[in-house]
Amino acid sequence: MIIILSVIVAMVLLTIGLNIKLGDFKKLKEVAESEELNTIAQKFPSNADICKQILKNLKNEEVKIEEDNSSRTSLYLVMKNKILIGKVNAITRVQTVIHECIHSTQNKVILKFNVIFANLNNLYFLIIAILSLFNIINYAVSEMCLWIFVFLQFVLYAVRSFLEIDAMTRAEYLSKEYIEKTEAVTDDEKEKIIQEYIAINKIGIKLYNYTLAIKMLVRILIYAVIMVI
Ligand SMILES: [Zn+2]
Repeated sequence: MIIILSVIVAMVLLTIGLNIKLGDFKKLKEVAESEELNTIAQKFPSNADICKQILKNLKNEEVKIEEDNSSRTSLYLVMKNKILIGKVNAITRVQTVIHECIHSTQNKVILKFNVIFANLNNLYFLIIAILSLFNIINYAVSEMCLWIFVFLQFVLYAVRSFLEIDAMTRAEYLSKEYIEKTEAVTDDEKEKIIQEYIAINKIGIKLYNYTLAIKMLVRILIYAVIMVI
């Protein structure tokens, strides 16, 4: 019971400490749905062309690019050294593509560790949940499993948040550089997009870390509930 309460208190403290407001989530949605900004976004080259250009600038051209029209998000797959590009037309797309290109330049050991460790973490969660749910292990053992699980979440959080903060921070500067050089839009439009990107990142980085931490706390909470039922 004390564990459940502690997790809930941690969630509340995180929300207060990071000054999370509903308006932050609304702001991100507004930017993505803004018609004016999306009209400007149409003028840029296709996502795949932006990706090719950025990889060339980053001198990382051996990365494969694959367009996935069924997906709305883009993703870098380290095991295949491939960037999957989703079908997105919102203004955020330039920065999103650049974000994935940056992932492809990050340290491969950390990237692979992140993927493998995340899968092992899911597997561990599934196993301890089943063992506790069917009372195969007693309370003392499940408590030990819980603390190991808490420790795993810390490691996973540290690695993932490092990779994402690095990509998000560098994407802001690379996007600015790319937009300033492009001839696709007017100077006014360039300024507008750059300002929006700065605004998005200001709340985006914070919200990413918050959501990541909350997701991990929720898993700990779920296991703690399974333990007591
Ligand atoms: Zn990322």
